[in-house]
Parts: sequence; structure tokens; C-alpha cells
Amino acid sequence: MHPHHLHATRAATTLATTRRHLDQAVDDEYLDRRQEARTIAAAASLQAWRPIPGPSGKGGHGDPSGRSAVDQLEPEVRAGRLARLAASTTATLTWLTTALSITITGDPLPALTAAIPILRPATSRELTLWLDEADQQIRDRLGLDPAGVDLPRVRCPRCARRALTAHTLGSRHTWTIVCTTNCVCLGPTCPCQMPIRTIGVRHVWGPDHPLVASLTTAA
Ligand SMILES: [Zn+2]
Ligand SMILES: [Zn+2]
Repeated sequence: MHPHHLHATRAATTLATTRRHLDQAVDDEYLDRRQEARTIAAAASLQAWRPIPGPSGKGGHGDPSGRSAVDQLEPEVRAGRLARLAASTTATLTWLTTALSITITGDPLPALTAAIPILRPATSRELTLWLDEADQQIRDRLGLDPAGVDLPRVRCPRCARRALTAHTLGSRHTWTIVCTTNCVCLGPTCPCQMPIRTIGVRHVWGPDHPLVASLTTAA
């Protein structure tokens, strides 16, 4: 695969995992907000139960109409900020599938991921930017660490620094290793050992490369 395809695959598999974290956080947020809404509604209905002063005394604790209203109490829960982030992320991904004429039947991200190998390299590069930005927004909101696992014992074939990061969240055929954002390819004369050497691309090695193939387990 072209290095731009590898970067897009890395970005897509990373975002898939980040979105799962977000989905979990959205569920927790919903439960919190529902509890909060119930508490507020219960407090409001207690106010409504207060006996009306005066000889008629309607609306007090013994008022049957007041009781049935409370039994059916399930207040509306509005989407929280995490739910809105999840919705806007999905909307962005759906928009990308439309822009790239990719047909989707369910969630847009698996369809985008599957289509990466047939995209033009330049398109993959643009897609990577979108996916990484969506991923970063979620990480910032949830306070998640950067994706990937450092490989402190392995030197970069190009810059020789021990600054490589393995991305092994997806299935094995999606695994990649990248160097730092400053370590970019020099083109055909570059000693980086990438099968396709493209000037200016951040160094990335795919699942077929010995660097990645030597990873025995998911990092
Ligand atoms: Zn390097
Ligand atoms: Zn290179």
C-alpha cells in the first residue's frame, strides 16, 4: 500500500477505537443526565403536591390526580455535550462517504475504512487529516492519551532515533509503525525501506514490512 493509504488506515482504526470510548462515555452521560432530570422533575412535582391553603385543600398528598402524574414521571433527557460530539463525528464521517461516493448501509466509518485501498493516494492523505482531527477532538474531550504504543528498543531506519510508535488496534493487516511527524521521506533515495518512497510523507511502515511483521503481539 502507498504510505498515504497506510496513514489513512492507521487513522481509521484509531478513530474506531476512540469512538467506542466515546459511545461508552455517552451512555454514562445519558444515565447521569436522566438521573438529574428525574431529580429535578421530582422536586418540581413535590412543589405541585403542596396542599393549597384554604378550605377546599385540593392538590395535597391525598390528591389522586397528583399521584398518577408522578407514577408516569419520565422527564425528557436532552442530549449532552458528549452525545452532541458523537453525533457531529458521525455526521462528518457520513459527509465524507458522500463526498467520496462511498455507499453505506450503517455506520460510515467501516465503509470508509474498507474503501481506503482504492482511494487515490492524495485523497487518502486528505481523509487522514479529517479522521485524525475527529480523533483528536474526542481525545481532547475525554482526556485520552495519544494513540499508539512507543517502541523504545527499535531504531528508525531513516533517522535512527528510538522514537517509533506502533499502531496495532485493528486486525493484523492494518498494523503500522510510524516515526515522528518530523521524520519525513526523502523520496526514492531515502534509506527508510518503505516500499513506496514519497517525498514529504511522514514515515510509516505497513504490515508486510519486517519492522511491523516482527511485532509478535498487539503492542
Ligand atoms: Zn525516523
Ligand atoms: Zn523515506
